[in-house]
Amino acid sequence: MSKPTPDLMERIVSLCKRRGFVFQSSEIYGGINSCYDYGPLGAELKRNVKDAWWRAMVTQRDDVVGLDSAIIQHPEVWKSSGHVAGFSDLLIDCKKCKGRFREDHLGGTTCPDKEFKGRPAEQCRAEGLMTEPRAFNLMFETHAGPVKDSASVVYLRPETAQGIFTNFLNVVNSSRMAPPFGVAQIGKSFRNEITPGNFVFRTREFEQMEMEFFVPPAEGERWYEYWVNERFDWYVRNGVRPENLRKYVHPEKDLAHYSTGCTDVEYLYPFGWGELEGIAKRGDFDLSAHSKGSGKDLSFYDEATKERFVPHVVEPAAGCDRAAMTFLVDAYDEEVVTSEGGKEEVRTVLHFHPRIAPITVGIFPLVKKAGMPEKAKGIQAELQDLGLRTFYDQKGAIGRRYRRMDEVGTPYCVTIDGDSVEGDGTVTVRDRDSMAQDRVAPAEVGAFLREKMRAWKRG
Ligand code: ATP
Repeated sequence: MSKPTPDLMERIVSLCKRRGFVFQSSEIYGGINSCYDYGPLGAELKRNVKDAWWRAMVTQRDDVVGLDSAIIQHPEVWKSSGHVAGFSDLLIDCKKCKGRFREDHLGGTTCPDKEFKGRPAEQCRAEGLMTEPRAFNLMFETHAGPVKDSASVVYLRPETAQGIFTNFLNVVNSSRMAPPFGVAQIGKSFRNEITPGNFVFRTREFEQMEMEFFVPPAEGERWYEYWVNERFDWYVRNGVRPENLRKYVHPEKDLAHYSTGCTDVEYLYPFGWGELEGIAKRGDFDLSAHSKGSGKDLSFYDEATKERFVPHVVEPAAGCDRAAMTFLVDAYDEEVVTSEGGKEEVRTVLHFHPRIAPITVGIFPLVKKAGMPEKAKGIQAELQDLGLRTFYDQKGAIGRRYRRMDEVGTPYCVTIDGDSVEGDGTVTVRDRDSMAQDRVAPAEVGAFLREKMRAWKRG
């Protein structure tokens, strides 16, 4: 199945619930619109996505450092950044169906009203059924402390980036980083979205993985091109098929006034192309705005050239939930396979990259006796020591155990049978994608799997 199909999303949502990736939040109370909880496998998936991002953006580089800033920041931060005045979507209400729409999304929307069902929302607007657009600020507002007055208003951050800008001087002074260098951060953001939807694609509470790369002004263009390519490649290196990805360059007329370039990495979701990550050239807007707002000089003095400048910023900003959903959608496949009895059946499989898969190895004693469980537990302990996430299962037919692992994307299974205990001592290592089986000495299983993980390629 190479092309996404419209009901694919429903099948993925159902798999997510059935196998413990994603649940409706507060389900026992009837759920809350567009809020989700990640189950045991979803928590592992998201952790692996974040680890892969952090490894590529921080651990494997010496020009990027990490940060973990607060969700609630000084309200002035959001005034200087422009969010209080301008972080809004234009909202339109339909007087007929009472629907609420984002003006910039109206083009692709159909009317949900019983009478008009399926007709373009633009037509309702043309017939005067819709209100004039009004700006709706997306920031969640709350109060710090016991007194609820205008002096205690604070915001839940709508992006992680501002915490990086406000810490620019702290990072430079404490870590002696000099442009070009980056500061990366992963954390929760909150936006009171008008139209959340498409599962975890757009929610009001979500996690972002953002990096602000500070460069000498003349190097902005070069680094922008570098990060657009690097971020596109990251998804491919982690298993997403390149034919389902594209780069969308924002036309100049759509750019924010301070921005001189923005490219989205887009993915072909079952509901169409959508933004997965944005890479923006932000000039010196952010540091200059906070310099002005705070009265602190956020310029950089270059000892080598004896020049002072306000660094320009290139920002790759990704959504962790959107990335996790993308890995899931792209990995999902239904294949017709022939069972051992010669019957054709459908195998549901998630072709995750081994780095992204929630479980790396299934450990199966063929039967629950004759020393097999003991031997299996020993191998499991060794693989756990190597940092691999394992899943032990000694119940049911082996074919069914393999299928259950396929369905959650476990790339390898190790089966311990009679020969492993009494014969030549080897165990079976089964590969999820090719379904090939190799006999491997127990002491070599770790190295064998490591090599397979290193050489893994999307088929
Ligand atoms: P959109 O146009 O889809 O509202 P945006 O351009 O405002 O998104 P950015 O501010 O660039 O998004 O945020 C960076 C990334 O954070 C997005 O590419 C996306 O992956 C993620 N993201 C943004 N808003 C949400 C949301 N409401 N739910 C989940 N992820 C989000």
